Amino acid sequence: MAEKLFIGGEWVDAQAGETFPTYAPSTGEKIADLAKAGREDAQRAIQAARDAFDNGPWPRMSGKERAERLRKVAELINAKSAEISEIEARDGGGTMKKAMFADVPGGASSFAFFADCAENTADVEDRGTNPFPAAESIVRREPYGVCSGIIPWNFPFIMASWKMAPAIAAGNTSVIKPASFTSLSALEMAKCVQEADIPPGVVNVVTGPGGSAGEELAQHPSVDKVAFTGSTEVGRRIMQLASGTVKKVTLELGGKSANIVLDDADLDLAAAGVLFGTFFHNGQVCESGTRALISRNIYDEFVGMLVERAGKIVIGDNMDMATDLGPLVSPSQVDTVERYVKLGLDEGAKLLCGGSKLTDLPAGLDANAFYPPTIFEADNSMKIAQEEIFGPVLCVIPFDSDDEAIKLANDSIYGLGGGVWSKDADHAQRVAAEMQTGTVWINDYHMITPAQPFGGYKQSGVGRELGDYGYNEYRQVKHVWRNTATDRSGYMHFAALSGNI
Ligand code: NAP
Ligand code: MG
Repeated sequence: MAEKLFIGGEWVDAQAGETFPTYAPSTGEKIADLAKAGREDAQRAIQAARDAFDNGPWPRMSGKERAERLRKVAELINAKSAEISEIEARDGGGTMKKAMFADVPGGASSFAFFADCAENTADVEDRGTNPFPAAESIVRREPYGVCSGIIPWNFPFIMASWKMAPAIAAGNTSVIKPASFTSLSALEMAKCVQEADIPPGVVNVVTGPGGSAGEELAQHPSVDKVAFTGSTEVGRRIMQLASGTVKKVTLELGGKSANIVLDDADLDLAAAGVLFGTFFHNGQVCESGTRALISRNIYDEFVGMLVERAGKIVIGDNMDMATDLGPLVSPSQVDTVERYVKLGLDEGAKLLCGGSKLTDLPAGLDANAFYPPTIFEADNSMKIAQEEIFGPVLCVIPFDSDDEAIKLANDSIYGLGGGVWSKDADHAQRVAAEMQTGTVWINDYHMITPAQPFGGYKQSGVGRELGDYGYNEYRQVKHVWRNTATDRSGYMHFAALSGNI
């Protein structure tokens, strides 16, 4: 039996009756069939969201009432943590460790944070008065209407929560399309929404191909806002599709982030941070620090530490809590990595470790889906240092001065994440201030909280998710001007048209 679509509060098959399989990348086993939404199913979901917005109770409830429902979703997610973690890890190939400590609690905390926003953020702001003509201004923050969210495969559960929770917290309704490789956990999220008494049509989830169901969510006239996370290439397409009806668009796209190790860093910490910054989830993280820029004063010693420690990362069955790295999301993603490794060698980059598929995996695992941590000494102009690989490949690049490090860091079409390692806080802050990127971690990496903004400079995206910045991306701004004059003397500007009206 296939998993169904969640539309208008009902679990339904795709209209054409089609399904598609999803696999566990670690073994290549099929784990479920899912309803394959076509354009007509996406349209049904958009219509359900439209009705729920135009005629339903959700946008008319108080922020406090919505917040109670979102908090309930967070509670239900936490209560089902073990079950959802297992689904998330098995379907996408991430480790159980990541699912239990990052994905599922991260998803719950998005709902909890945006519940607080719904309850505690004012919808009406007093903007004061004008002396002449005498007037008072207020600004109202209002939901857009129907918000679609298109999700990538690398963090399926968290990414779905980043699109769904702020949208509905602000009084919008939502249609979510997960990535085809990893659609199962978004359906679990929909079940929590249903159990939390969120009215039918406020949340809809359609599983199916980006090229049909996804395109419909980006272009349909009844969609008011599109939020997309994924590749820069598809992001460009989303912008084009949305332009037909000038939709509000937010995009979280690719990256090639720089992790800068200054010569006054704690090298032990920095080595661990650089490895974590690149190899966490096999580098399938948009803000991975895939370019380590290293001061030449410490370069040889530091690169030696990286190579030695990269060999200690435990690769194996992702469902085992002792495993650091499981498979990539699919054998096709491994093909992409292999293509880039070959390209790096052809470009003259020096391979320091990794660089070919593993031959000693435990029985039962699909060797075509795994790839070991790979480190290249590279030049920043090489394709492997400029293009997003989305796999476990790190480029190490030396620099001679802070200015050179900053220049190299900014020599990229992207600007999503980045790191600076130094024991001197002022030094690190000076470098961070010059980096053209949406997030910089000092002496840390990958840390994200729902309370602070996340998003990209340059071709890494448009707009912000999370924090009050992210919440306000789901609320449009209405200025209401009220003339407070008591007679015509306060309306002299009418004379611009005619003295006699
Ligand atoms: P992707 O191919 O861009 O797909 C992302 C989503 O868009 C999927 O749901 C996909 O559906 C859908 N899609 C594909 N073509 C579409 C179209 N023409 N119209 C509408 N939707 C379409 O990216 P991915 O392979 O899933 O994820 C990897 C990429 O995402 C990387 O480049 C990474 O950097 C980026 N990423 C960025 C962030 C961030 O926050 N900035 C976070 C995570 C990932 P199907 O699955 O059905 O193809
Ligand atoms: Mg899968």
